[in-house]
Amino acid sequence: MSVTPEQSARTVLVTGGGSGIGRAMSIAFAALGDRVVVADLSEETAAKTVAEIQAAGGTATALRVDVSDEESVAAMVAATVSAYGSLDVLCNNAGVLDSMGVLEDISLAEWQRTIGVNLTGVFLVARAALPHLLESKGSIINTASEAGIRGGCGGPSYTASKHGVVGLTRSIAYMYREQGVRANAICPGGVNTNIVQGEMSEQGFGRLAGVLMNAGAMAEPEQMASVAVFLASDAASYVNGAIMPVDGGWFAG
Ligand code: ADP
Repeated sequence: MSVTPEQSARTVLVTGGGSGIGRAMSIAFAALGDRVVVADLSEETAAKTVAEIQAAGGTATALRVDVSDEESVAAMVAATVSAYGSLDVLCNNAGVLDSMGVLEDISLAEWQRTIGVNLTGVFLVARAALPHLLESKGSIINTASEAGIRGGCGGPSYTASKHGVVGLTRSIAYMYREQGVRANAICPGGVNTNIVQGEMSEQGFGRLAGVLMNAGAMAEPEQMASVAVFLASDAASYVNGAIMPVDGGWFAG
């Protein structure tokens, strides 16, 4: 494990680190020599990511968290700081995808679950992490989505939740800009993760075909993780409040 010359090991907290983009982010930061807390609703998948990191000689800890639950989030942040003494980088990546149905088909329960995890979850985790990020002059990377900047690539609750993540990212970036905490969001297009695979097996290729064709080829989670690594690095020290499409040019159209 080598630490890049310009920065020493940081503590990185990744929610949704058990699979997909969060797993790839956890592995990428650990490969730089950072200490990574891999938090997920699924303790089992979080532990699997940690085992992979440790097998490669990295430092990581698995935690179970429900990001939509205030107490669970407080316990996660406390455990992170008690394990590694600081919190330098927060990757808010835990998320769920709604059914992509039309508005009349969305139940209140589904709406609340999607907003609860994707948006309230980001609020709760960022709020709990902020005192530590202010201390470390750290940064936040939120996984938004193309659905955070456009209306045609997710269901109503998913799209609303991700637009909310974009707004929250900008608000945090602006609010704490003079105190040295940065917040940025990445907006993945089509990425090869369980969320997309689930949609494809459940609903058939059709509903996502437009997304995937417009995005060209689907990206691999590692192509999102490398952007998060950049945004968290000193190379991005003046990048704050950026809402960055990482979609192979889809949004450019
Ligand atoms: P993507 O990588 O595109 O975000 P995945 O489904 O592979 O898609 O990953 C999302 C991760 O978020 C999963 O590991 C899932 O367990 C996690 N997750 C979903 N809901 C919650 C929650 N309430 N709290 C914490 N993690 C969650």
